[in-house]
Amino acid sequence: MQLTLIAGARPNFIKIAPIIHAIQKAKDEGKDINYRLIHTGQHYDQKMSQTFFDELNIPKPDLNLGCGGGTQAEQTAAIMLAFEKELLANPTDLVLVVGDVTSTMACSIVAKKQHTKVAHVEAGIRSFDITMPEEINRMVTDSITDYFFTTSEHANENLIKSGVNEDNIFFVGNVMIDTLLKNMPRFSKPAFFEEHNLKEKKYFVLTMHRPANVDETEKLKAMMQEIIDNSQDLPIIFPIHPRTAKIFKDLVITADNLKIVDPLGYLEFNYLVQHSFAVITDSGGITEETTVMGVPCLTLRDNTERPETITMGTNELVGTNPEHIKPYMDKLFAGEWKMSGEIPLWDGKAAERIVNTVLNL
Ligand code: UDP
Repeated sequence: MQLTLIAGARPNFIKIAPIIHAIQKAKDEGKDINYRLIHTGQHYDQKMSQTFFDELNIPKPDLNLGCGGGTQAEQTAAIMLAFEKELLANPTDLVLVVGDVTSTMACSIVAKKQHTKVAHVEAGIRSFDITMPEEINRMVTDSITDYFFTTSEHANENLIKSGVNEDNIFFVGNVMIDTLLKNMPRFSKPAFFEEHNLKEKKYFVLTMHRPANVDETEKLKAMMQEIIDNSQDLPIIFPIHPRTAKIFKDLVITADNLKIVDPLGYLEFNYLVQHSFAVITDSGGITEETTVMGVPCLTLRDNTERPETITMGTNELVGTNPEHIKPYMDKLFAGEWKMSGEIPLWDGKAAERIVNTVLNL
């Protein structure tokens, strides 16, 4: 069985790592499985890409398509053109895509047009918010996927409702949590922890990069101000995504307790999250990680494609209206935040299940 694995952006690297390790393990056990790893180049700088390869022990890609930058359409087109050449030169039995980024969608389309089977890891999740580029990527990818690897019952239900044959849905758990559980003993304290005098459970971690929050400068400013005003002077550590940094440089937002830092590597970022009082974010993946680590999470979005992080986890949807931030932060300081329960199959074995399934296809 020959696989082509696609990874393009930060959350992809975290999801692909355990799959590669499970393939290598199966290969070492004499199983007939091989792969080519294709990096589309969607994220290309050291801090958004190479760091994750180094820290998570991901082998050097067989090919980097070098398709960074550009608008959504330019990037989709560039990836499709480059991946078509790759697939013609190196035919494969199965193209495996993960998550919901532009690379996920672009490479699945190319594969299907070449009559190659597609497997989608993290299939079926839906925010039902078509204004999100990720939602379009999810819908398009799932409409042409052959094998659906899912993280939750919600995802299974969404796929069944959209007419997918149940025999092609494999509820395997969450590869992002495989990476989290495996690397927890390796989390490392960032150098600035002492420098900023951070104390256990006495600081916030903030991340924001979704267009709905960061593209309107006035709204972004208002949200930041609400967070600062209601933080009771606890330090707010803000590892800033390159997309947000571009917009942020023209905004004048300063506060003694706001510490803006570069995007962090996986091991330092999750050390910071694990020891924080709470996380404020608009990321999807981070709501899963905080749920497993039992850290309160305030999500600056009006919807989520990961409802189990709310019903069973530590996540709450604060929304994108700045006025909604205060009541949630008050609740946090009042010590009234919910605890998390165990999420079915988020047990560190999803990648192993995926590889076993692929071997039996
Ligand atoms: N992450 C990281 N360093 C950071 C911020 C995030 O390693 O400075 C990790 C985080 O632990 C999670 C992933 O990046 O695994 C989430 O990526 P992102 O927020 O870009 O994507 P999303 O989950 O929103 O698709």
